[in-house]
Amino acid sequence: MKPLPSIADAEYDGRTVLVRSDLNVPLRSGAVEDDFRLEAALPTIRALRAAGARVVVCSHLGRPKGIDPAFSMRPVGERLGVLGGFPVTIAADVAGAGASAAVAAQGDEVVVLENTRFEPGETANDPDLSDRLAALADAFVMDAFGSAHRAHSSTVGVAERLPSAAGPLLLAEVEAFEKILGSPDRPYVVVLGGAKVSDKLGVIRALLPKVDVMLVGGAMCFTLLAAEGFAVGRSLVEEDMLDSAAAVLASSDGSRLTLPTDLVAADRMAADARHRVVAAASIPGESVCLDIGPETAERFSAMLDGADTVFWNGPMGVFEWEPFAAGTRRVAQAIAGSSAYSVVGGGDSVAALRAMALDGKVSHLSTGGGAGLELIEQGSLPGIEVLRARSGRPAPAPGS
Ligand code: ADP
Ligand code: MG
Repeated sequence: MKPLPSIADAEYDGRTVLVRSDLNVPLRSGAVEDDFRLEAALPTIRALRAAGARVVVCSHLGRPKGIDPAFSMRPVGERLGVLGGFPVTIAADVAGAGASAAVAAQGDEVVVLENTRFEPGETANDPDLSDRLAALADAFVMDAFGSAHRAHSSTVGVAERLPSAAGPLLLAEVEAFEKILGSPDRPYVVVLGGAKVSDKLGVIRALLPKVDVMLVGGAMCFTLLAAEGFAVGRSLVEEDMLDSAAAVLASSDGSRLTLPTDLVAADRMAADARHRVVAAASIPGESVCLDIGPETAERFSAMLDGADTVFWNGPMGVFEWEPFAAGTRRVAQAIAGSSAYSVVGGGDSVAALRAMALDGKVSHLSTGGGAGLELIEQGSLPGIEVLRARSGRPAPAPGS
């Protein structure tokens, strides 16, 4: 496979560089609620500035339908500048007169373009928008792993039009996923959980042949338990996924899949619900299970202790509610405490680790949720392939 072009191979001194970062952060009352993705984006921006580039950053934020001030990049760009310790100008638009003016007037500051989703052409990878984005800069750096599974103007279209490289964050993400998809050190243990089995059945299929054991908790385990014939009460089951779940369990690799043997059953879906530990074989019909039980958590933890490679995606229970956080905490502690090479992906799993201050104890904390899952399923992503396809092309001569 052709290597990804990196920023170390290009000359950026005096050039204007458009960086596609993933600044899609949660906002609360108009302020950034979690800095994880901003902090992850900073080293690339700093490296380009140190290389003499004028840096223009773009990203999408949320899912606005057209221009919507509630989704402006302003608070995000300002926070980026505070964390990065550099001045920031927020352009008045994505790739119109406002962006051109901000770039034309650019001095030492970082220019942050408006939310790329303000442009209707963004998600359609519209050639006109890609042209206008490309016209803003001399080179492009793709660093938004969390958006690399989308062939949009700001991820793929612009990369087809400018000398392009993968940013250090994107390279680190690709390297981490290559490790867990290639020939990982064994035992290789994968832990999957989270909300929907429909989101992750493809990942189960892709990883089962590679792992020594796959541990499944979270809401998604109930569709699998139901497919095995267990009565799961009112726990979340995706009826239309039962057949596919049964097929995976019946496959030759299905024996590596380990389901909970006990669960925390609640009388309703609420933080203050009455709850007790029950065996998987005797879940009361009126209850909804909101966490794996202590016996399962111990078993999962013991298997993680012996692992040499770990991938974790998806919380084991409704960890946002303290009575149902123990399973997720136990798994997080086991991964953090192990000497295995560990990759954790998924917005909620990463948030759980960060809330427990264990994020520094894993080998790689991924900034991509859906992108990571799609990379596992498909083996590559459009926002990565476009860079590989263009690698080896000569960089423009200085001053061109
Ligand atoms: P990630 O963002 O890490 O990929 P998901 O988005 O797939 O994870 O799932 C996270 C959500 O799953 C959390 O909001 C959590 O409350 C929910 N969840 C986990 N276990 C259960 C359960 N047993 N019942 C209902 N929801 C659950
Ligand atoms: Mg999530």
